[in-house]
Amino acid sequence: MRKNPQKSPARVRTFAAFLAFFASLLALFCALGCTPRPEAAKETSAAMDTVMTLTVYGGETDALAAAKDRVLELEARLSVTDPDSDVSALNRTGTAVLSPDTAELLSRALELCARTDGALDVTVYPVVRAWGFTTGDYTVPDEDALAALLEKVDYTEVRLEGDTASLPVGAEIDLGAVAKGWTGDELAALLREKGVESALLELGGNIHTVGTKPDGSDWRVAVRDPADGEGYLGVVSVSDKAVVTSGGYERYFERDGVRYWHIMDPATGAPARSGLASVTVVADSGLYADALSTALFVMGREAALDYWRANRDFEAILVSEDGSVTVTGGLEEAFTLSGERPLAVVRA
Ligand code: ADP
Ligand code: MG
Repeated sequence: MRKNPQKSPARVRTFAAFLAFFASLLALFCALGCTPRPEAAKETSAAMDTVMTLTVYGGETDALAAAKDRVLELEARLSVTDPDSDVSALNRTGTAVLSPDTAELLSRALELCARTDGALDVTVYPVVRAWGFTTGDYTVPDEDALAALLEKVDYTEVRLEGDTASLPVGAEIDLGAVAKGWTGDELAALLREKGVESALLELGGNIHTVGTKPDGSDWRVAVRDPADGEGYLGVVSVSDKAVVTSGGYERYFERDGVRYWHIMDPATGAPARSGLASVTVVADSGLYADALSTALFVMGREAALDYWRANRDFEAILVSEDGSVTVTGGLEEAFTLSGERPLAVVRA
């Protein structure tokens, strides 16, 4: 007898289930791979005395160009070496009407000087110049010269009323410790307005991430090893955060076997020698991260950890001159050391 050519109900059900399974597999593959990823637009240029690489995914077609223009605009206003900048005008004459950008940054920087009890001090510029860090003509100034210059270092003497700033005679400001961080914030906001949901902004040692990587995973930001200009200490995984490092290795000179670097202790007028070799700060705001990376470097490990305990609005990786590493609790999962070395996690 011939078999009934009609399929049995059970076989129909199996076939339907197979089809449904196949369709859902297809849908899954499409969700993972078929949705077009935004194209990367990327550009590297020299600005703000460093190398900047901006990588922008998606958004309006002029997003990258607009970001680049904004960097140049801010540089022209904030640069302490450009004679046409707002900062130079103020330093030259002792009083100046600032552009709204410069006034805003100065106002916020002064708040951060106060918050860090003067470890960050925007009036340290005469001292920075005396050591030759502005020109590369390095010298170790004599003590009397430094003592005289230190009398001019006091951020509480800077007056800012509206957009008009004034300084005591002989005082000068430098926003170099916070300018790149604030620029990161400004660029991130501008890119978001232009529809960009994913970008990596590398502003020298300042990294600013917008959103996640286009595939939805965290950005993996390498942290330099301060003892080895080329090597990496580890990697920190973040999204929508600024990761800013200040280190003695970035700009320095050596005399008689002593290394002198460009981060000054405003209390002594000499390069900050607090036992730290580098400080990396992870925070929502680039300005805050930049201000803190400089200030915590000046404070040293113990004071930096006290500052973290009192505020808890950032995380930090502190590398001591002996090579040991301390990370604050919020980075325990996000930070991975690349080699073997002592690592302490501070949780409270
Ligand atoms: P970088 O600019 O190399 O990334 P920082 O953000 O730490 O590093 O800023 C260092 C610059 O800020 C120095 O080149 C100097 O012009 C200025 N500076 C140095 N020490 C201080 C300080 N304690 N407070 C404010 N500005 C400082
Ligand atoms: Mg800084």
